[in-house]
Amino acid sequence: AMRLILPLFVFGMLINQIQRSEASARRIRELLAQKPTRDENPHARVLQQAPQRIEFENVSFAYPGRERTITNVTFSMEPGQMIGVVGPTGAGKSTLVKLLLRYYQPDSGRILVDSSPMRAIDMESFRRQVGYVSQDAFLFFGSVAENIALGAPDSTRKAIERAAEIAGAHEFITALPQGYDTPVGERGLKLSGGQRQRISLARAVLRDPPILVLDEATSAVDTRTEALIQENLRAFRNRRMTLAVAHRLSTVRASDSILVLVDGVVVENGDHESLLAQNGAYANLWAVQSGEAVADDNTVS
Ligand code: ADP
Repeated sequence: AMRLILPLFVFGMLINQIQRSEASARRIRELLAQKPTRDENPHARVLQQAPQRIEFENVSFAYPGRERTITNVTFSMEPGQMIGVVGPTGAGKSTLVKLLLRYYQPDSGRILVDSSPMRAIDMESFRRQVGYVSQDAFLFFGSVAENIALGAPDSTRKAIERAAEIAGAHEFITALPQGYDTPVGERGLKLSGGQRQRISLARAVLRDPPILVLDEATSAVDTRTEALIQENLRAFRNRRMTLAVAHRLSTVRASDSILVLVDGVVVENGDHESLLAQNGAYANLWAVQSGEAVADDNTVS
């Protein structure tokens, strides 16, 4: 089966680039359209503190009326750990995120938070623990500083700038006409996709959430800047759980565990080195992408 999967996987990743803008528009429409279902369970426990463990246990899921999207996915996360998810377009990466954020419930298997079924926990209290950065950064009309402080309005300018530094945004922000006071978003200064993503990342960093979910959060940032951001994020990730979904393997390279998802199934699982040693789908893709990166660098310099 791998002989069939491998070329499909690599090819899928290549066309990912092309499909991404379309897919992202779809994703944002979806997320906006979905009114999170209110907890029906009146006994739901309000999460008072940061979870110490999240587990996916044989989770399977199909969108209503559709074929199965996620099959038997198992992994766990603890504070200080980063889990990466890679795979071609349509593999189910974002669906995993949506399951974690509870836009949907598994059809079978369980998602456990500190050993309690996710359903037994008050949804709002869980979401408050999560900083979610998608590839489509949402900016409202207001200053850059206000946009970064969206989830933490009482932040000092200093804290805002510190968050922007970690997110690799400080430099370009200070170069804007009015720096941190430059109006952006609807009717404001038009920023590039990569700049918007970094503002969105700074927003999550400033909120300082115990759980960080990055869904193609730096996909529009160039490879070098991204490497810088990854380096900055290393210390930031220290005491929190990070789930990072990416097309670009270098984004998830530092993960404690990387799930290689193909057609909703985890076909490989391990850290970067062990996945390379397996010489399978991941190793194959790594070879292709590092070749691309070298080509990119040559064009730049
Ligand atoms: P990825 O993030 O890896 O690109 P997704 O999780 O977005 O993959 O999608 C996995 C599969 O589920 C795809 O076949 C996609 O078309 C389908 N899908 C995604 N969202 C929905 C939805 N809201 N309703 C029905 N099918 C969906």
